[in-house]
Order: sequence, then C-alpha cells, then structure tokens
Amino acid sequence: MNAPEIVDIIRENVSEKLGREAIVRKVNNRDDYFILDLAFSYFQKADRNKRNDYRSGYLYYQRKDKKYLLFVIAHCPIMITFFSNNFDYEKFRSIVVDTSKYRDEHFIRYAKSALKKEVIKTDVINYFLSKIDNLEKGDFKKQVFTKSTTKDAKTGNIFVLGLANRFENKDIGEIIGKTWDLFMWLYPTKPIFSRNASLNRSLIKIDRKCEINKIDNLPDDIIKKSCSGEIEGAHILPHKDGGSDKLENGVWLCNLHHRMIEGKLTGQRDKVKINVKYYSKKNEVIIQSH
Ligand SMILES: [Zn+2]
Repeated sequence: MNAPEIVDIIRENVSEKLGREAIVRKVNNRDDYFILDLAFSYFQKADRNKRNDYRSGYLYYQRKDKKYLLFVIAHCPIMITFFSNNFDYEKFRSIVVDTSKYRDEHFIRYAKSALKKEVIKTDVINYFLSKIDNLEKGDFKKQVFTKSTTKDAKTGNIFVLGLANRFENKDIGEIIGKTWDLFMWLYPTKPIFSRNASLNRSLIKIDRKCEINKIDNLPDDIIKKSCSGEIEGAHILPHKDGGSDKLENGVWLCNLHHRMIEGKLTGQRDKVKINVKYYSKKNEVIIQSH
C-alpha cells in the first residue's frame, strides 16, 4: 500500500495518543484512508450485522488540490451506540469551534437510514453552530444517533464531521489532539488509556502503586478514603492545561484518588522524589495568608 506521507503522519499521531499502533485501511478503489484502532474490528464483530469493514475513525482523502480530514462512523450501529453513550454535546461543540481555523467549510452528515440523509454544510461557523445548537434543542443524540430500524439495518447509521480541509502536515498533531475525544467515544466505555497512555509509559520505572500518601497538603476527606479501582497514571498539571506526559508531571494513583485530586495538584516529581502539593481555591487563600 502506498499511502501518501500525510497518512503516515496521521497514523503516527493517532498511535501516540492511543499508546499502541493505529492501523490504516484504504477504501477499495479510492485513495481514501481510514486511520483507526484495530480493536474496532472486534467491536464490529459483536454487531448483529457482523460488519467488519473498518469504517470508523479518522478519514483522510484529497480531492483536486484540497486535503480533507474527517471523523467518520459508517454502517456500524454498534459503534454508533458506543459513540452516542459517550457523547457530550458541550465537548462536541467546543471541538467544532477549536478546529474551525483548519476549515473553510463546516459540515456534518448523518443518516438515520438509507433513505434519510441529512447534511449541514456552510462556510460560516456561526451559522453552523446555530444549526447544531438547534439539533441539541431537540436532543442532539436523539436527532442524530437514533438507531436504524431492522429493515435497513444493513445500511446502519452514518455520522461524518468535517475536521479540516485547510491544514499542513505540521498541524496534524494539534488537530488529532483537539479532536481526540471523538475517537475515544468510539469505545464501549471511556478507556483508561484515553488520557494517560503515554504518561503511563513515562511512569513505567516507578512502582505501580497509588502514591496519594506522598502528596502534601491533602484534605482529610481524601486521606481517609482508601484506595479503589485500577492504578493509573495521573497528570500533576492536567493535559488540557498544557501538562506534559513526561515523568516529572505524573504520579500513579488509584482511580478513586485520581478523580478526587484531578486538576488540584501543583509541583513536580523526579524519579523517586515527589514534590507535589494539593491545593484548592479555598486553601490557596490560606497559603497566601501565612
Ligand atoms: Zn489511592
């Protein structure tokens, strides 16, 4: 397969986020490329229609001199179900806004059945937003992801969102980063590795135990709670606030403690020493008054 270089760059970026190799599937007879997780084919095998033709994930193609990057779920009711279960409209909307500088055309396509296709397409972002806000008024999920009926189950649902059509190779990392939630919504549950695959790799030399006790300034309600759930890499400065996936920005925490301290840590670690403090807006004031 001779995929264009840009497809490789997309695949590398998806692999990096995923924590394992993403795969590329070329669409038959077309120079269109899906970039996705091999795991999707297993999800699809569980589908009552037993479709496993890889039609979900990032889709790249070029038409004339224009490159397109899309997010697609096609002909796979089970993945539409996962996506719909995880879907968060506010997040979705912010993804649309955050990526708008990479497009001169905004579009969404969805089909509840083979007979009922809907398209919103415009070069005016505010108009586009008002259109999708309108869908949300009637419950976006209900409007867009309603399951197809048995009759046309073979067609299944389609959901396509245009992510970018005006971008360079160097923008791909940022576009994948900004749209990563969409990809993560394709899983049966929100997976642990969604946030911290590469952080986990950075922490690999550290003993994988909840490190909550090594954090300073913890309030009693957190100290008193005993550990529960999987041990996972936790960012000290959250990823969304620019925190890196490097060792110095991570601690191992159980799932419970992770949730309790998320976004409320400050400091750094090195290999063994943890110089990390809990803070909240409340005790920030206390610290200042000392
Ligand atoms: Zn814990």
